[in-house]
Amino acid sequence: MNEHGKKSWWERTESLDTQWMSKSLCVEIGPDLFFIEQGGAYTEAKQICQMCSVTSECLTWALAQPGIGGFLGGTTEHQRRRMGRQAS
Ligand code: SF4
Repeated sequence: MNEHGKKSWWERTESLDTQWMSKSLCVEIGPDLFFIEQGGAYTEAKQICQMCSVTSECLTWALAQPGIGGFLGGTTEHQRRRMGRQAS
């Protein structure tokens, strides 16, 4: 918990199952394709996520940490924000 009484992203996600991460396609590739400069395209990341067997688990994890950015679970941060608003 920080000084504002809010949980850090790690505290928000530590209760989530992360076993799926060992099955992720991006684990060997590294984060560069998934966290690019503003205005860049996630073309390669999108193709990789479409082939990944743990997209659903990854998306659940990413939705639990708003503001993390990047292309995760086959979605951009913008798309995840919209999903979060529609769910509330
Ligand atoms: S869905 Fe995409 S970002 Fe998530 S683990 Fe798979 S390859 Fe990585």
